[in-house]
Amino acid sequence: MSNAEPVWDYVEQNKDRLIQLSDDVWGMPEIAYNEHRSVAEHLKVLEEKGFKITKDVAGIPTAVAGEAGEGGPVIAILGEYDALPGLSQKADSTTQEPVEGQGGMGHGCGHNLLGSASLLAAIAVKEWLEETGTPGRVRYYGCPAEEGGAAKGFMVRDGAFDDVDVAICWHPAAFSGVNEAVSLANTRIDFAFTGRSSHAAAAPHLGRSALDAVELMNVGVNYMREHMPSDARIHYALLDAGGVAPNVVQGFAKVRYLIRARDLVELNQLIARVRKIADGAALMTETTVETKVVSAVSNLLGNTPLEKAMYDNFQRLGPPQFDDADRETARAFQATMKDEDIVAAFRRHGLPVDRSKSLCDIIVPLENRGNGGVGSTDVGDVSWKVPTVQARGATYAIGTPGHSWQLTAQGKNPASHKGLVHVAKIMAGTAVDALQNPALIKAAKEDYEARTKETPYVCPLPADLQPPIKQMSQAGKN
Ligand SMILES: [Zn+2]
Repeated sequence: MSNAEPVWDYVEQNKDRLIQLSDDVWGMPEIAYNEHRSVAEHLKVLEEKGFKITKDVAGIPTAVAGEAGEGGPVIAILGEYDALPGLSQKADSTTQEPVEGQGGMGHGCGHNLLGSASLLAAIAVKEWLEETGTPGRVRYYGCPAEEGGAAKGFMVRDGAFDDVDVAICWHPAAFSGVNEAVSLANTRIDFAFTGRSSHAAAAPHLGRSALDAVELMNVGVNYMREHMPSDARIHYALLDAGGVAPNVVQGFAKVRYLIRARDLVELNQLIARVRKIADGAALMTETTVETKVVSAVSNLLGNTPLEKAMYDNFQRLGPPQFDDADRETARAFQATMKDEDIVAAFRRHGLPVDRSKSLCDIIVPLENRGNGGVGSTDVGDVSWKVPTVQARGATYAIGTPGHSWQLTAQGKNPASHKGLVHVAKIMAGTAVDALQNPALIKAAKEDYEARTKETPYVCPLPADLQPPIKQMSQAGKN
């Protein structure tokens, strides 16, 4: 039987400082690998609370780790603080109002709350470890560049999680519950074709068109779609069409492919097929092709024992306690949304549609979490390295679209603060359950091993690919 309740008191005692942190981070939205002010704020709190600090995790200046405790198992709690371009928005406003002077960036995915709640949970576990003298360590990971950056993949590759026993994470959501481990593995690969330029009219026979190669590659891939797994996705964008002159045979052209699949194994099979098509296009056009992997993340692996332990915490704590004022605010935001978005939010979790509810007042049952939407996240790579569990914490109005100005606008209101504190208790409680109960960690590891035995983790990032720190930092200044 779990005895995690005392750690919830430590969450309560530290909540004001961490709510302040989430508001501060909300006010300094920074893009992937450029989160310098945000990480400095997280560092400040880690120092105030007496964590042993590791800066520049995996050589990334905006990644930080803070550890507390002695001996025993290592529980990782993952936080994020990066923002999104184009989602700057005035707080609490129910009309779209970008805030000037912020470069157009905003916390349209709630990562200001994400990092702060995770750090709050880590602080509570630290205090619980000290108070009880339990052997064990808690380690907070401040992870940058989740959006389009996949920093956790680089941190895993660098060995940052090698000694971790269990990893815990969460994401802001409309409903509270255990996250269903559904996300797609993906990779971005650039295919650059080189041919031979020539006068398209006077000497066409001397030209070898790289643009033809790109077009044939795209045709080939589009024919492949019929014969690939139905949940795989392939998208492409032309980075270089070879110039603007139709009378010059295009000697160079480049296309970027984004390939997504249910898991790493399926992804690697699909990548191999796309590469064959690129080679075929080069053969047909007498051009050459060079490829470069730009980024890659793994799909999420679930972990049944940890999910049950987290669900047990949700059941004992109950749903977040929002009040009438919170519900009224949420209703005002719902008035700006499409009715179908609100209905879909209930249906996605197999819940009866109830338009009288503007904020979550239940815990989504473990068995009908449903399909939370198929995107991709770099938590996937952590989940292939160590047993990992994620919560979803209700912080915004039901129906709020992901990556929207409405989400940014709700990111520092009282409901989001309550959601932050609530989910910190869930994570801290789950961590304490693991620290008190070696059988839980053992079961989590057995579950992990069963899932990875036949298909062990292969880091999807090429060995020579480095985090795009410089380019991203420069891009962020524009
Ligand atoms: Zn997010």
